[in-house]
Amino acid sequence: MNITLPDGSIRKLESGSTGLDLANSIGPGLAKAAIAVEVNGSQKDLCDPIMDDSEVSIITIDSKEGLEIMRHTLTAQVLARAVKNLYPDTKLAIGPTITDGFYYDFEFKKPISTEDLEDIEKEMKKVIATNSAITKSLHTKKEAIKVFKKEKEPYKESIIKDSDQEDSFQLYYQEDCKFVDLCRGPHLPNLKHIGSFKLTKLAGAYWKGDSKNKMLTRIYGTAWKNDKDLNAYLHSIEEAEKRDHRKLGKEMDLFHFQEEAPGMVFWHPNGWTIYRNLRNFVRRRLQESGYIEVNTPQVIDRKLWEASGHWDKYRENMFITEIDEEHANEKRINALKPMNCPGHVQIYNQGIKSYKDLPLKYAEFGLCHRYEPSGTMHGLMRVRAFTQDDGHIFCTENQIESETGLFIEFLSSLYADLGFKEFDIKLSTRPEMRVGSDETWDKAEAALEAAIKNLGYPYRIDEGDGAFYGPKLDFVLTDAIGREWQCGTFQLDFNLAERLDAHFIGEDGKKHNPVMIHRAVLGSFERFIGILIENYAGKLPFWLAPQQVVVASIISEVDDYSIEILELLKKQGIRAEVDLRNEKISYKVREHSSKKVPIILAIGKNEMNDKTVSIRRIGSKETNVLQLDDAINEIVKSNNL
Ligand code: ZN
Repeated sequence: MNITLPDGSIRKLESGSTGLDLANSIGPGLAKAAIAVEVNGSQKDLCDPIMDDSEVSIITIDSKEGLEIMRHTLTAQVLARAVKNLYPDTKLAIGPTITDGFYYDFEFKKPISTEDLEDIEKEMKKVIATNSAITKSLHTKKEAIKVFKKEKEPYKESIIKDSDQEDSFQLYYQEDCKFVDLCRGPHLPNLKHIGSFKLTKLAGAYWKGDSKNKMLTRIYGTAWKNDKDLNAYLHSIEEAEKRDHRKLGKEMDLFHFQEEAPGMVFWHPNGWTIYRNLRNFVRRRLQESGYIEVNTPQVIDRKLWEASGHWDKYRENMFITEIDEEHANEKRINALKPMNCPGHVQIYNQGIKSYKDLPLKYAEFGLCHRYEPSGTMHGLMRVRAFTQDDGHIFCTENQIESETGLFIEFLSSLYADLGFKEFDIKLSTRPEMRVGSDETWDKAEAALEAAIKNLGYPYRIDEGDGAFYGPKLDFVLTDAIGREWQCGTFQLDFNLAERLDAHFIGEDGKKHNPVMIHRAVLGSFERFIGILIENYAGKLPFWLAPQQVVVASIISEVDDYSIEILELLKKQGIRAEVDLRNEKISYKVREHSSKKVPIILAIGKNEMNDKTVSIRRIGSKETNVLQLDDAINEIVKSNNL
């Protein structure tokens, strides 16, 4: 049979040869590194026979797939076996991989605690040190049930019974022991391929996720190719925890959530100051770029949502309200807007538009409500009420390319000013189910691509990932610790204008539907502020910081001079406060630093007599003494973005 390798070359092997045979035929190095194969797109064990002509690639631990297989083997074979060694009465449920790691659900006879994880890790290391080969055998449903009945593993039995499969149940063994597990595979051929790992936490989890079932114990872990990768990962987790915006939000007194309004932010004065500053910044930039700010109702009759198609497609995510209208026979049903687009079309539809009016760009800081399941909410990052920096561009097909270019430049300059120099662009093209002619799609996709190329940005294409109503660009920025956040979007729409009857009179004197472009740079203010807090670890740029300067007195004789400085700063629009408490200056500095106040001015007798200030910037141990006027000028300068 012919085996086609990823580089296109072909190898002739006898039918029934395995992935290992193939690796051996290529070279001993690869045979040693091989852990599994991909045959015609599906992963197989290295020992599985290949019967017909196939496309095959060898998987090693250096690939994402290889890492995943290693994690899977680690949980299913090593963690489960180690737990059975230490606690023989334990019942095994399931052990899948997750992002960066794995878990396994067990039913322990006696509950275990986090302290026990260390013992389990030690036992796992012993299991790995056996360097056992892993073998497998195939069984019918009946046989497989019999095996796990004998093993007294009711969860495994029930998984097999619930399966609609009748045979080919894969049982995996290690050569040196009786441990057996049921698995879809593939697994490593040998435990010696296991890299570095750590068990991270314990949690409760219901069997099959159903609260009517028994609560099991879930052990989580992470695993990597080597110690270096593991340590880098653990370090990044630690960094992320330090930067967690929920923790910093508390320390900096920015916002809170409470049960009566899940997923909706109570902004405290400090947090709302950040919000307003960010909004003012975006508003100024929108105005400079030809957008017109509008505002549309929060509560709109279902009729409009029916016309826009949201009622049909999106209702389960909408907050619905019912009102008994005066003198009306029936209740009026409204929805809180989940999007601003239909509202903007209503404004566009007031009065006749000509091609000369296009492109017409409406912007709205639109407060939207979307119902998200409670389990998915996460601080500011995922909420039910959020304000988009939303905008819609109504334009002709011929204007798509220039509008795309303008938007990308607008977005990149905003991101740069907010501290994000790097972002990726993803172009999503036509899906199978779509509206609009092929000609329209050809033109639109080409226009998007040409605009990106013109500006010289790298991009990648996601074939078929566009919406049914048009292709789109997504913008993903990278934060200070290398995490990626998808924020900006630029989405062409060939559907909504037609649905909601939006027209313009063309040069030909006839009516045409404009192309509508949905666009946002930040995405939502809530989430973006969460990203900013984490990116800067709370030490926001001076212009965004809620409290910019604290004037801290060292002795009470300088109170008047401190207040004089405060007033001068306030006059210049600086958000300043004075701290005249009878506390040590080191205590004051520590306290205001923990609230991430960017500048602390320490005022003592010398400063008062010389008309100077001691200026201390957050993150710096240095203190500079400056003339008062110079200091104020410098502070005012820092406030200009
Ligand atoms: Zn929209």
